[in-house]
Amino acid sequence: MISRNQQLFERAQVHIPGGVNSPVRAFRSVGGTPRFFVEGTGARVTDADGTIYIDYVGSWGPLILGHAHPAVIAAVRDAAVRGLSFGAPTESEVELADLLCELLPSLEMVRLVSSGTEATMSAIRLARGHTGRDLLIKFEGCYHGHSDSLLVKAGSGMLTLGNPSSAGVPADIAKHTMVLDYNDVPGLEAAFAEHGSKIAAVIVEPVAGNMNLIAPKAAFLQALREQCDRHGAVLIFDEVMSGFRVDAQGAQGIYGIAPDLTTLGKVIGGGMPVGAFGGRREIMARISPLGPVYQAGTLSGNPVAVAAGLATLRLVRAAGFYERLAQRTRQLTDGLLAVARKHGVPFSAQAMGGMFGLYFRSECPENYAEAMACDQQAFKRFFHGMLDAGHYFAPSAFEAGFVSAAHGEDDVAATVAAADGVFKVW
Ligand SMILES: *Cc1c(COP(=O)(O)O)cnc(C)c1O
Repeated sequence: MISRNQQLFERAQVHIPGGVNSPVRAFRSVGGTPRFFVEGTGARVTDADGTIYIDYVGSWGPLILGHAHPAVIAAVRDAAVRGLSFGAPTESEVELADLLCELLPSLEMVRLVSSGTEATMSAIRLARGHTGRDLLIKFEGCYHGHSDSLLVKAGSGMLTLGNPSSAGVPADIAKHTMVLDYNDVPGLEAAFAEHGSKIAAVIVEPVAGNMNLIAPKAAFLQALREQCDRHGAVLIFDEVMSGFRVDAQGAQGIYGIAPDLTTLGKVIGGGMPVGAFGGRREIMARISPLGPVYQAGTLSGNPVAVAAGLATLRLVRAAGFYERLAQRTRQLTDGLLAVARKHGVPFSAQAMGGMFGLYFRSECPENYAEAMACDQQAFKRFFHGMLDAGHYFAPSAFEAGFVSAAHGEDDVAATVAAADGVFKVW
């Protein structure tokens, strides 16, 4: 009998390109049928065939409290019955802005938007408006949403002016984006030495999570701060994924570096569409209506979405939240490392707060090229083996994974036991 997931996927492809509304969901890189989910509770999701999985995707990061956390659902219900949207100010968006500025010391002012893409796109426009310069530096393998300036990836060479990595991005736009290697301090210094006076901004994932998890070298983040200061460029930390995920103050808290602007999303919406960009008052004051840089949104600061974000952030600030989350995540990576070693599978893994990376190579990668060198066939076998056993990991070798506060010791132990079974017949 054909599965309900399969039926839905076939139907989806009639009117939705590829059957999905975001490409990785299509399972293209692992093969097989995407699971259509009907329900999620805590650490578990149920698909259209009634199969239950322990979930390590968490909607790609937002669900740090797990699925359908009662406090978040109650806050959303409460807000919804009072009206879905006003297109006028509400008190809850002020509360969220206050809370974000309280929790992240580098934020003096913040503006709410509806996605991470909007946050990064707006932060870049703001940096360009602030400096009067056009050139943007990004790092290969870092993802900052899908706006034109950011869909640019160079060849592997340092200082290569960017070529678009998507059809439809004008070369005239891509040429203002320069792509460097992640964790490469000499490459960064060379770029600033040559182009320093033209560089508006450097945007970076201070813990990278879109080429699998790549940890920054502390010296790399320090060099970013130094070079931007010396040359008057705006340093943008894209913490859409790492914010309130790797630690209470994100990567900027762990490494003790204050960016000029920070972009946020994912966790700050608790599963609803909320993004934000914020930072130094002097820069943020250039946003419309205070200043000349235009930025707007019909649903920005939406009261229902903001309610989910507020309820989530109020729970993650509880004492010991990130210690417990990090411990649970380490239980997973340590456990997987141990069973891989037991069966002689070339494998490495690391955790940062509630985020983890699994790599089918012997050492954790430090940049895009090393991430790409992981054994993709091995990942596919692992992915499908785990899926069949009821453990849902991201359907791509190049995505980070997520543990939530709803994942219990027994859940993670069950996942490690399943991996033992997969590696045993490797
Ligand atoms: C997810 C992500 C984005 C894009 O956010 P969307 O809400 O998907 O538009 C931007 N930057 C980083 C680092 C992300 O992980």
